[in-house]
This record gives sequence, C-alpha cells and structure tokens, in this order.
Amino acid sequence: MLSVQAAEAIILNLVKSLDSNQVEIVALEEANGRILAQPVTGKLDIPHWDNSAMDGYALRYQDVQNCSAEKPVTLEIVSEIAAGDRPQTEIQPGQAARIFTGAMLPPGTDTIVMQENTQRQGDRVLIRQSPQLQEFVRHQGAFYQAGTPLLAAGIKIGAAEIAVLATSQCTQLSVYRRPQVAILSTGDELVTPEQALQPGQIVDSNQYALASFVANNGGIPIKLGIIADRPTELKQAIAQAIASADLVLSTGGVSVGDYDYVERILTELGGTLHIRSVAVKPGKPLTVATFKDNNCLYFGIPGNPVSALVSCWRFVQPALKKLSGQFNYQPRFVSAKTRHDLQAGGTRETYLWGQLHLADGKYEFALAGGSHSSGNLINLAQTTGLAIVPVGQKLITAGEAVKVMLLD
Ligand code: AMP
Ligand code: MG
Repeated sequence: MLSVQAAEAIILNLVKSLDSNQVEIVALEEANGRILAQPVTGKLDIPHWDNSAMDGYALRYQDVQNCSAEKPVTLEIVSEIAAGDRPQTEIQPGQAARIFTGAMLPPGTDTIVMQENTQRQGDRVLIRQSPQLQEFVRHQGAFYQAGTPLLAAGIKIGAAEIAVLATSQCTQLSVYRRPQVAILSTGDELVTPEQALQPGQIVDSNQYALASFVANNGGIPIKLGIIADRPTELKQAIAQAIASADLVLSTGGVSVGDYDYVERILTELGGTLHIRSVAVKPGKPLTVATFKDNNCLYFGIPGNPVSALVSCWRFVQPALKKLSGQFNYQPRFVSAKTRHDLQAGGTRETYLWGQLHLADGKYEFALAGGSHSSGNLINLAQTTGLAIVPVGQKLITAGEAVKVMLLD
C-alpha cells in the first residue's frame, strides 16, 4: 500500500494547473477569493504625490535647521492645506503652510514640523525644535513605483489585495476560471435529505459535504446526484462527469464489496489507475485515475462520510488548489500537545479529528468526544484539526506532542 506522502506526491504530479489562457476578466468587486492569473503592474506611484504624514506645518528645512527652544524661528503662515486641497502658493524663505495629514506638500517646502513642536501666534508660527530634513513627508513613490511588480500571479485575492488593487486603480483583473468539480454519490441505499427514509436507507450527506468543500476551495461544484449501484447507470454517469469536469469526486463503490464497481468502470472507460489504496485511516480505498483524451482527474473516494471528508482534506484539497492556480499552496501542519490519549492500529497513518486550541500561545489538541468510527460523522462537526498518528505507532499519550493538520 502507498504511504500518504507517496500518494500526495503522485496526485500533485498528476494535476495540471489551469494555464494562463484559462482566465476570466473580472471587475474588482467580483475579485474576492479569486486567484490572479497574470501578475499585476500598477500605473500609479504610491503615494501619488508628496504628502504630509502629520498635522503641522510645511516649511523649508533651511529656515529651521538651527532653531531650538532658546532660539526659536518665527515663520509667516501664508496658506492652509487640508487633505484633498491642491496647493497654489509656492512657499518662500521665512514662510510656512498650515498642513493636515494626507495633504499635498506645497511647492517650495521639503519638511513637516508636527503641530506639537510648534506654537501658533496669530498668522505666525514659532518653531522651537529643529526637525530632520524631510521629516514626516511621505514621498511620491515611497511605497510603490509605477511599472514595477505589484501583485504576483497565483495569489488569492482577499481584503488586503483588494485594498492594494483599488488604491492602484486596477479595476479589471485577470483571474483563473474556477475549476469545475463534478460530484456524484454511488449507492443503492442513498436518498436525498428531503426524502423520507425507508428501512435500510441513509441520507446522501457526502454530496452536500463535498459541494461545500469544493466551493470553499475555489471550485464550482456540479452536483450530479445519487447514482445506483448498477454498472450501466454508473458507467454512463461517470462518463458524463469525466467529459464535463476538471475534477470528479465520486464517493462509495471503491471498496472490495460485490457492489463496488467504480474501479472496473474507470478501466473500461480507458482510465489509468494511479492509486488504488493508501495506508491511511480513515480513507484507505482511495482511487485516483486519469484519462487519455482529456485532462480530467478522477478521485474515487470511500463512501463513509468521515473517510470522504478526510480524503478530501488530505488529498483533494492540495490538488484543487494547484489546479485552480495556487501553485504555492501547502497543507499546514502544526505541533500540538494532545489533551487526550490518541490510539491507532500502527499499520496505517491515522487521522483523528478534534479541535485545536491555543493555550499560552501554544497549540493543544482536544480529541472529539464519542466514537472515532469512520461512519460516525456526528462528532466531525466543528473539527479544526486532524491529529496524525504515524505508521508504527499505536499510542500518543495525553501530554505528548502530536503533529496536527490544520483545517481552514
Ligand atoms: P461504500 O464505500 O460504498 O462501501 O460505502 C461505505 C459506507 O458509507 C456505507 O455504510 C455507506 O452506506 C456509506 N455511504 C456511502 N455513500 C454515502 C453517502 N453519499 N453519504 C453518506 N454515507 C454514505
Ligand atoms: Mg456503496
């Protein structure tokens, strides 16, 4: 059986990122959460003109370079410039302009003296302390020079990036299209949440869980619904999914049971199976396939709801990120002190779900209460981390350090 690391490497190697022509042009308002497909270059220097970082007086450094409390310099105030004003008058030797934070520096001045270091006397101001040359001036281009790289391709656009783009007046952006992810649930026992349960039936929770997972990771979920465990129907549904999506996530039907048809169908459809099982718990029967004639990547995920989500978090998420243009994405692991004993079988890398807490700036892991059976999805709610017990280890005792995978 493949190790988790080997499986992850194979998967990432199979993912072909969307290339730079698979883009959409979106307005800034629509860009939140999208991935930049082209580097952005700004056309404006930031700040766009020299301006004051303080409320105070704009003046000529030469006039005040030798002043002190004992030898103050008196300057004549010839104008007042508020933020948004356009200064008209050139400041001459012996003169100053009253200025406010963010206002443009008037011509002739090179330095701001903050209000607190001055004394106002009618239309004059006393400077009692000599400033540094150019003190409290935010120079044009000090933060960013027009024409130099502003934001790189592959980054996800959030509040800070929106601010940068808005200030640079970049209102149209080239972003990667969102990957189309087909989701289908296999199983004769499945019904939708709206249907009344007959004996033997269970609700298809995976369809909804995976759609949420896909949307949270920047993909467009295409819900293909429940497909019965009948080879012809299944084959047709899988063929349609492969033809229409960048990624297919099917759940169920990949174990060794009599009704587990997925692998056989993938082979019949000309697929190459790269992974058939992984030494991981939960989630051992993971199938990963590609097809000759298109770029679709197929994940056949076990049906147990916990196995399904853990497989998505551990294996599908990095693939989806890479596919969607986030080339630098890495799963995040932290070291935490476990509050509970963590038990495992020792033969497979074991993922135990629970919550991460910060105590005095250090992570602690609290194991979710109740059963850790892969069929129990109830205690999966509010999971923020997956504690990992490595192969070869059967117990991590409460108080010891454990590696935990962070969930977003
Ligand atoms: P399978 O992988 O098809 O053998 O399914 C394993 C277990 O997961 C069975 O108990 C199924 O009833 C359950 N299961 C399969 N598919 C789903 C689904 N879409 N939603 C919830 N549970 C499922
Ligand atoms: Mg099944």
